[in-house]
Amino acid sequence: MNIHGSVAEWMKASSGGDVSARGLVPTMGALHEGHGSLIRQCVSENAQSIVTIYVNPTQFENPDDLGNYPDSLQDDIRYLESLGVTDLILPQYSELYPFDFTIFVDESLDSKVLCGRNRVGHFKGVLSVVMKLINLTQARQVYFGKKDYQQYRLVSKMVEAYFMPTRIIGMDTVRDEYGLALSSRNRRLSSDQLELARKMNRLLADMSLNTNQIASQLSDWGFQVDYCEERWGRRFVAAFLGEVRLIDNVEMTR
Ligand code: AMP
Repeated sequence: MNIHGSVAEWMKASSGGDVSARGLVPTMGALHEGHGSLIRQCVSENAQSIVTIYVNPTQFENPDDLGNYPDSLQDDIRYLESLGVTDLILPQYSELYPFDFTIFVDESLDSKVLCGRNRVGHFKGVLSVVMKLINLTQARQVYFGKKDYQQYRLVSKMVEAYFMPTRIIGMDTVRDEYGLALSSRNRRLSSDQLELARKMNRLLADMSLNTNQIASQLSDWGFQVDYCEERWGRRFVAAFLGEVRLIDNVEMTR
């Protein structure tokens, strides 16, 4: 695997290369099997498979959440090598934000609900960094997880709106044996919290309950519910267990 420690290194190594079989999986590191499913798909469909690891500050509205984001670069590198990834890019802040915080990509409808309602600027940060990563890699296939369904939907809309020559591929959520969506944030849960978190998906998927009933059951169990809502043929939830914010969504089946 080629490890490019900066955008500049990547640009130098990749100039003139064939972009048609170039796939990209953007990540924030602390990799797990959820990322693994996107990466395996990318490796199987592209001669050149690129992973980026970048914890993007512009999408965190809470500095503690950013500061506590897990960092496991050496393990991540070993994992990516075992999956057969050809290129890892580690962009530097000063390269992605040479203009500081003055130029953004924004969306005015779907980004204002669910995770965008209380996290002002979150999707602006996400869309801006994804636009940068797609443009600098020139990837033609880019893989996103439906665990972050709102993000997947917004990135798909952005690529269409800006005529970007890129296909966005959405991958199903990978869960543990109890149904909990894998997430880098799960590492921060205590064993009691983990037990509760593992009950969330079953509740969300129970179509005999409405969203108010789900939210009140979660509160009774000790979650602090941010939202539980149905949209776009899916049911979404975001809830805190202590400091840890968990999200999940399922397709509606009724
Ligand atoms: P992150 O590192 O959290 O920004 O995630 C990078 C990509 O992996 C995003 O497209 C996520 O939606 C995806 N992802 C994270 N967890 C999972 C999961 N459990 N199942 C499927 N995709 C996931």
